[in-house]
Amino acid sequence: MDLSFSPAEESFRAELRAWLAANLPASWASGEPPEFASLADEVAFLRDWQRRLAEGRWVGIHWPREYGGRGASVVESYVFQEEMAATRAPEIINRIGVNLVGPTLIAHGTDDQRRRFLPRILPAEELWCQLFSEPGAGSDLTALRTRAEPRSDGWVVNGQKVWTSYAQFARWGILLARTDPAAPKAKGISYLICDMQAPGVTVRPLRQMTGSEEFNEVFLEDVFIPREHLVGREHDGWSIANTTLAHERGTSPRQLVIHRMLLNDLLRLAREERDGAVPAGADPVLRQRIAQHVIDVEITRLNNWRTLTRLQKRLPLGPESSFIKLFWSEMSQRMHDTLMALLGARGLCWQPGPHAVAGGRLARSYLYYRAASLFAGTSEIQRNILAERVLGLPRSR
Ligand SMILES: Cc1cc2nc3c(=O)[nH]c(=O)nc-3n(C[C@H](O)[C@H](O)[C@H](O)COP(=O)(O)OP(=O)(O)OC[C@H]3O[C@@H](n4cnc5c(N)ncnc54)[C@H](O)[C@@H]3O)c2cc1C
Repeated sequence: MDLSFSPAEESFRAELRAWLAANLPASWASGEPPEFASLADEVAFLRDWQRRLAEGRWVGIHWPREYGGRGASVVESYVFQEEMAATRAPEIINRIGVNLVGPTLIAHGTDDQRRRFLPRILPAEELWCQLFSEPGAGSDLTALRTRAEPRSDGWVVNGQKVWTSYAQFARWGILLARTDPAAPKAKGISYLICDMQAPGVTVRPLRQMTGSEEFNEVFLEDVFIPREHLVGREHDGWSIANTTLAHERGTSPRQLVIHRMLLNDLLRLAREERDGAVPAGADPVLRQRIAQHVIDVEITRLNNWRTLTRLQKRLPLGPESSFIKLFWSEMSQRMHDTLMALLGARGLCWQPGPHAVAGGRLARSYLYYRAASLFAGTSEIQRNILAERVLGLPRSR
């Protein structure tokens, strides 16, 4: 494992730090981001933020230069995410476009697709969503039932997708649909680009327990998709989807920084003296729990660095990357349980108000991170991967 950053990587960090110091709105930098009246207002702000980042060439830095990126190395990409999180800069809104669609079109798209779609992804001119999961196909995506029936000039699509983040704001979606129902499950799927404004597309927001409505159900009724919106070869969508999914795994520097900050919140709450009572941190059991969180965050850092070193040496990531996802997501939920123990009744106040701690941000964080053991592959699926492909245990099915 290589535990140091090179002078070039440190100067890259300094350049980004200087840009953020000059451009990041003060309210975000101080950890008190503005409350938005609606999700639409927040999305409008985040689009503008991404546009400004793109002007500074700070979006899609891992993309090749010819497509507007910086051709950044894996270490620079890591440093980038680490700095963004450490300065509390908001995440870019077009994450699906930048992290999933761009690399997939660069690897498998046609020249026309790259020319048409890539330039509008970086400045968030057009937002993208990921139309993969279905009510009966999440962990096992190859079970998807959305049908795309061929026509002379394209396909007509019918089916339903679910958990589609930001679909209500997206201009385009990457869509997996079955084009050959007779073929074995993973063989008859195609990877299509869906116009979210096409007739027959209905988006219904789903309210999450945080109160936000970021993800949606998407109904597709006789939606026409022209032939030029096929990515790669017909029926070969599953292997292309794996390019997309590979970009969802790997290191998680942003989560590392967020949980380091959460650790600081835990320590502050444990030391807090309220109404003359003994601080919660006087309890040896609680102290032990927090000490374990410190150790876990450190393990997360070392795991990230180990993966980073592998990526830097161009070694395959392999199924071990499931361990990183599994470890940090379950660590997160343990830390958030301690957070709720420390907040006590104040943990019920998840919106700004007189009794809310940090405007309800910490309680909302608890609610949000319940999702961590689901998205990008559930904990059970990560355990199956580790059991079968790392430990060589018998297959579960
Ligand atoms: C915040 C959030 C955002 C998301 N955004 C998107 C998005 O933008 N686009 C998109 O396409 N999807 C999105 N998803 C969906 C996500 O990818 C799925 O939730 C995930 O893949 C799990 O699928 P599922 O919810 O259908 O659960 P299921 O697959 O139905 O699983 C239900 C339960 O059964 C368990 N299980 C399933 N199979 C096995 C097995 N073989 N062995 C043991 N246990 C098993 C699972 O672990 C889980 O506990 C999002 C999810 C979340 C939480």
